Amino acid sequence: MDELRNRAILLNSRPNGYPSQSNFKIIESDIPEINPGEFIVKILWLSVDPYMRGRMSDKKSYAPSVGIGDVMVGAGVGKIISSRNNEFEVGTIVEGRFGWQEYAISNGTNARKISISEKDSSQALGVLGMPGLTAYFGLFNLGKPKPNDTVVISAASGAVGSVVGQLAKLTGCKVVGIVGSDIKASYITKELNFDNAINYKEQNVNQELQNICPSGIDIYFDNVGGETLETVLENLAFRARIIVCGQISQYNLYDDEIAHGITNFRNILTNQVTVEGFIVSRFSADFPQAFEYLENLFSEGKLKAKEDIITNLENVPTALLRVLTGENFGKQIVKISENN
Ligand code: NDP
Repeated sequence: MDELRNRAILLNSRPNGYPSQSNFKIIESDIPEINPGEFIVKILWLSVDPYMRGRMSDKKSYAPSVGIGDVMVGAGVGKIISSRNNEFEVGTIVEGRFGWQEYAISNGTNARKISISEKDSSQALGVLGMPGLTAYFGLFNLGKPKPNDTVVISAASGAVGSVVGQLAKLTGCKVVGIVGSDIKASYITKELNFDNAINYKEQNVNQELQNICPSGIDIYFDNVGGETLETVLENLAFRARIIVCGQISQYNLYDDEIAHGITNFRNILTNQVTVEGFIVSRFSADFPQAFEYLENLFSEGKLKAKEDIITNLENVPTALLRVLTGENFGKQIVKISENN
């Protein structure tokens, strides 16, 4: 392996507000010899996800921060090119928490073999990976949807939201997506069969929700928090469920900025609403059944997935900024190398 060099992206400094390129540093190093039980993965695809912004901060959260000078965390899909682990043979395609780099050494604890065809292997980072699982457990375990329920989803064209909407449609719900552009609105209604879309940047969300959901919203799958959450609270049905999955509108506040305060919490009381936050890892014991369910729907063509792919390791920070500003259209992936 001495001819191979690895390039990795480290956290260089912590952002205040939106991250910038200067928060990251790229380094090159030799790939060390592997020990018994280890293998080397050549990364093909890296996933870029909103949670990465939280890891760049040293504020208390559900997972530890990335240290300054450490490789940025993240999931990837890659091919094993060298192995001293009998369970992970050379040539196997794996998904795991490999970090922002071109090659990773693993002992298997942070990796899973994927059964998806090689051409679709990047989907193990999206609809058939962590975002798909998030949609599945958030909707089914917390939302408990019933046919004819009205389900509203924010960041609805994205990795999580697009799957939530499709699963809710398959359950017989009426599905409304809130998105940040007309092209995303058109995608979720025309391609994904959502009943309605609202462009929160162009339309009056409160007015639209009143028109589209006259009997109120039974399930709100919240990916954004902030003003949109506040508006949804004005339009709830009796015994509604609010699934607090993400708060992306609040992830890039300046250190001295105060988070958006929800002023109409009284609606939770009067409508006897359930509000529950979750982190997908809570359901890890049930991941195998969820993977099977999602993989079956995907292979039958009943679950569509749009990817937004850019290339090269040095563009991973740019990809993260795209997600945090809504420039991405579909699951944000970075192609790191060819499968050869
Ligand atoms: P997406 O693919 O949906 O990309 C993020 C989207 O968020 C953007 O495309 C944009 O869509 C929207 N967005 C960005 N900035 C803002 C803003 N300031 N205000 C409102 N919307 C904004 O990402 P994911 O599907 O991967 O993640 C969606 C949410 O789910 C995130 O909040 C994430 O943190 C959360 N999540 C939670 C998990 C859990 O275990 N609880 C696991 C995985 C994800 P648009 O243009 O439509 O505004």
